[in-house]
Amino acid sequence: VRAYAVLREGDPSIGEVDLPAPPVTDHEVRLRVLQSGVCHSDVHLATGYHDLGTRGRVPLSSRGFTYPLVMGHEIVGVVEQVGPAVEGVGVGDVRLVYPWIGCGSCRRCAAGEDNLCATGRALGAHRPGGFAEAVLVPHERYLLDIAGLEPAAAATLACSGLTALAAVKKALPLPPDSPVVVVGVGGVGLTVVGALAALGHRAICAVDLDLDNLALARGLGATTTVQLTPGVTAADLLEQLDGPVEAVIDLVNSGATSSIATEIVVKGGLVVQVGLFGGELQLPTVLMPLRALTLRGSYVGTLAELQEAVELARSGALRQPPILPGVLDRAGVASALQRLAGGGVPGRIVLAPRSA
Ligand SMILES: [Zn+2]
Ligand SMILES: [Zn+2]
Repeated sequence: VRAYAVLREGDPSIGEVDLPAPPVTDHEVRLRVLQSGVCHSDVHLATGYHDLGTRGRVPLSSRGFTYPLVMGHEIVGVVEQVGPAVEGVGVGDVRLVYPWIGCGSCRRCAAGEDNLCATGRALGAHRPGGFAEAVLVPHERYLLDIAGLEPAAAATLACSGLTALAAVKKALPLPPDSPVVVVGVGGVGLTVVGALAALGHRAICAVDLDLDNLALARGLGATTTVQLTPGVTAADLLEQLDGPVEAVIDLVNSGATSSIATEIVVKGGLVVQVGLFGGELQLPTVLMPLRALTLRGSYVGTLAELQEAVELARSGALRQPPILPGVLDRAGVASALQRLAGGGVPGRIVLAPRSA
């Protein structure tokens, strides 16, 4: 199986590798990749480290990542081979893959929270992902029927859509006219705006540096937009927002944005931290009790939440950002990562093999 991978830690360039493809066993399913979304987190993975602020950079190899690293976790494929124990899915079926696969035996996995498993084996991270001709999924229960959905848009539900929905569900319920601020409206942030609107929320404030992204956010349901240029302070934002808000969903989550987020919420307010930009939050500890703040991290979502995202998309309620198609080969993966690293990509890049 041909795959497009980061070959060495610390060198983000993309090379080609051939992965072994032994016959599938047990509950395993092998799918030929039809659509493969490129996520900003792939840009972070390709760099080979997490930025932990004053704790420095933590190399991914110390976090159980191995090389070559085949990224790609927004995958729609057609089933090519099924193991002898597989039920309910057959060769030729088109399926969306839930990539956030856990160990299968811990308390979190038993509760259906694979995404919170301490020893997770996610596709495109700890297992080879979708930047390849084919992908191996360990159990058919991680495959979702997407009949009625456009495959490229459906692929983006696996990370962008799921991450957005799971973050929004942490912020809601709120009175529909109580403003929620969405910081960073790139691919995931635009989907957060779309998911808030799909769930009936009416006051949505999008904050971003990029004016084009803010225009897209308005198209997806944002009622207010604020351009966050580097000099903008929490006080400026409060003025534009007409006062503090109940909830902020931060898709950037840098030192600067997280600090602003904690300053623009009401007493008893909530900050949902999603972005992997890196950095460090500085916050006077006494403000946590005095202002009864909740800081809540949100990492992708559960298999049940992905099912919910698929149903929301199928109902027509979930408006998704534009799909920017590309070619699934070495050059296609490399240029998509480069575009995302440059910022301001107006939507979600999804790659398809040339032959498809
Ligand atoms: Zn992602
Ligand atoms: Zn587990």
